[in-house]
Amino acid sequence: MFEIPKNVLSIISTLESAGHEAFIVGGCVRDVIRGVTPKDWDITTSAVPSQVKGLFSRTFDTGIKHGTVSVLLGGDCFEVTTYRVDGEYLDSRRPSEVTFAGEIEKDLSRRDFTVNAIAYSPTRGFVDPFDGQVDIKKGIIRCVGDAEKRFGEDALRMLRAIRFAAVLEFSVNNAALHAITKLRESLANISAERIREELVKLLCGKNLDALKLLEKTGLMYFVLQKRVNHGDLEESISRLKTLAKTNADENMKIALFLYWTGDNCKNILRDLRFDNKTIKTVSIYVENIFAELPQNRYEIKKFLKEISPEFFLNLIELKKVTNPALEIKKIHEEVHDILEKKECFTLRELAVNGDDLAAVGIPRGKETGEALEKLLDAVMREPSLNVKEKLLCL
Ligand code: ATP
Ligand code: MG
Repeated sequence: MFEIPKNVLSIISTLESAGHEAFIVGGCVRDVIRGVTPKDWDITTSAVPSQVKGLFSRTFDTGIKHGTVSVLLGGDCFEVTTYRVDGEYLDSRRPSEVTFAGEIEKDLSRRDFTVNAIAYSPTRGFVDPFDGQVDIKKGIIRCVGDAEKRFGEDALRMLRAIRFAAVLEFSVNNAALHAITKLRESLANISAERIREELVKLLCGKNLDALKLLEKTGLMYFVLQKRVNHGDLEESISRLKTLAKTNADENMKIALFLYWTGDNCKNILRDLRFDNKTIKTVSIYVENIFAELPQNRYEIKKFLKEISPEFFLNLIELKKVTNPALEIKKIHEEVHDILEKKECFTLRELAVNGDDLAAVGIPRGKETGEALEKLLDAVMREPSLNVKEKLLCL
């Protein structure tokens, strides 16, 4: 059997001792069955939020409207959610209301996929009305109930199905794939942020062939915020697979994926509401995947100025994946040498600032910035110039 953390067991037994039912549920049950350690442990209970709050000394309201109370125990935080059913769905994204349900089976029936609709408690064992355990064994993503109905209620589930296929290395059953193809346009009702989160998880998954399902079902167009993928997806997938074998981070994967969409990646990133730092880093990766490597120390510093050393080294790794013949050892050494010698490549490290320039009569404003940039450029070429007296003479 699998091990459940003692704090989780303690929450379940506290609820049970007070006469309620309580189970671990959803992703954590799925993961323990797969032999994977869950990221977090979700608990579902027949107790209503006020009862849950009465039983534990440290709680806070996380999603009280949805029946979720967070219980703090031994430094960890666990979400305890009352059995619920969702009301009518409006515009394929959110239920108009949620109501608490009396039975665990009802709560399980509102969940998206059979593999996510299993509950377990040490005293009651598994509750698995939709044969989720069988689907986990077979490696299949199947909707709870009628696929069209379930995707009609919440369009994000279409993308979740394919994301789970990528992350769990599962396939998606035909009924679900048909329904996705039919309802693909409703993904346009889903916020860009939620689509982004699923896409990033998908790209970090192990079964990257799942990307073909996005294309095949027509979901790709809506994931890319109404853009056609112009690139060669097979090639993109094969590069992503190579990248997945390294310890590449999320941004590198996003870059490699977007490179092959053949569109302006900055616009896609913006439309998907990525933060500015990610947009900048990923765009630099994309722009430079096939660009020439910097040829000398000064050019390397120009990169380091634009993106941090960490991101620059990532870019080099990314280029190595797309071009295995690339010789990157020398450039690695050069970067480390620049860092070790603390050679200046940012305005912050420059030995003069705007005040110093003002003191020698350079008026504040646009000129200050331009002058500082010029001095920085000189210092990047010749590190020994990074001394206040020398710079003020230039
Ligand atoms: P992950 O490992 O990515 O967190 P997860 O299965 O825990 O996967 P969550 O998004 O954290 O996924 O959701 C927790 C559970 O809530 C799911 O396992 C599923 O039972 C249910 N759930 C989440 N989102 C939906 C949805 N859109 N429709 C129906 N059920 C959902
Ligand atoms: Mg989860």
